[in-house]
Amino acid sequence: MPTTSSRLNAISESVIRTTTRTSDQYGAINLAQGFPDFEPPPLLLDAMAREAHGPYHQYAVTWGSPRFRKALARKITHWGGVEINPDEHLVVTCGSTEAMMVALMTACNPGDKVIIFSPYYENYYADTILSGAEAIWVPLRPPEFQFDKAELERAFQQGPKAIILCNPGNPTGKAFTRAELEYIVALANKYDTFIITDEPYEHMVFAPYEHVYTHALPGAFDRTIVCNSLSKTYSITGWRLGYVQGPRDFMLAARKVHDFLTIGAAAPLQEAAVTALEFPDSYYHDVRDFYTRQRSLFLGYLAQTGLQYVEPQGAYYAMVDITPLGFADDRAASDFFIKTIGVAGVAGSSFFREPVNNYIRFHFAKKDATIHAAGERLLKVRDHIK
Ligand code: GLN
Repeated sequence: MPTTSSRLNAISESVIRTTTRTSDQYGAINLAQGFPDFEPPPLLLDAMAREAHGPYHQYAVTWGSPRFRKALARKITHWGGVEINPDEHLVVTCGSTEAMMVALMTACNPGDKVIIFSPYYENYYADTILSGAEAIWVPLRPPEFQFDKAELERAFQQGPKAIILCNPGNPTGKAFTRAELEYIVALANKYDTFIITDEPYEHMVFAPYEHVYTHALPGAFDRTIVCNSLSKTYSITGWRLGYVQGPRDFMLAARKVHDFLTIGAAAPLQEAAVTALEFPDSYYHDVRDFYTRQRSLFLGYLAQTGLQYVEPQGAYYAMVDITPLGFADDRAASDFFIKTIGVAGVAGSSFFREPVNNYIRFHFAKKDATIHAAGERLLKVRDHIK
């Protein structure tokens, strides 16, 4: 029999999705895969119901419904401060997941190199391999998750085609500072490299930290490819609506990749989501305030467990240091959390290239009752600290 592609040998199954399945099997509270357990905004659901009886049930324009792109361009221009042209700078995708694949396949030739910070969101490595490229790893060292400037420049000296940047970071919760981003932009200009950003948590950055849009920095727009999604901001991870945003020539090429991968994102959902993209600023302030609150609630419980954790500056994940529990490996610890404590989290090693296995990642995109229930269960770890 023919064998399957050897590219896949380098990629393992998603640990995030696998943990969700195990969590469901044991009836644990799932704080592993990051998605909310509350309703999307009611106005958005009304719009979805309206579109059910509307005319948009066939393919949309492959690179995105004109109404959706127009609303999206307005929203991005408003928050990022750089004029986005709906007909030139955007391709609508099936989530940021497809966006990243499109960005890498558009940017890379086989054998090209891509810088990935570690820890990283697991898709980045898989997407790099699937697009025929190779990873150059640069560590973000816990607990501050800062990069070493000289080490990053050495990675750029290897001639990468692109660098991937998750801001705010999953799983680190790192909100990259303006100075850090300016340094990355300077290196990208010096070594002629694309900057591919993934920014689905842009509206979940906790004071005093702020989200800095890389594409809006001086000298960045023409080489910055933004991957983003509506999943987190509007609590619609199942709608699979995302986009790639970048300079005109890059986007013309990206249209082709996207067209042959998926043709397009769900047409009626794009129409419905226009309603969300037109929400006033107060909606986004409410999102930030809500997650600020859920973060305090969840960290309040973690503080009582006796375990150390990384305080996220943005996004909705917290990395908990499980060293005092004495597990030799974090997969065993993840099993223990699911089966004995009743709360699922992702084994941190799945995010690291280096042999780091003392973290479990939990998320707090949950309603109060779920966080309280999970928090009470987590307090039981106190009996297991060695
Ligand atoms: N981004 C979310 C996480 O990191 C969801 C992952 C996924 O399964 N797509 O948990």
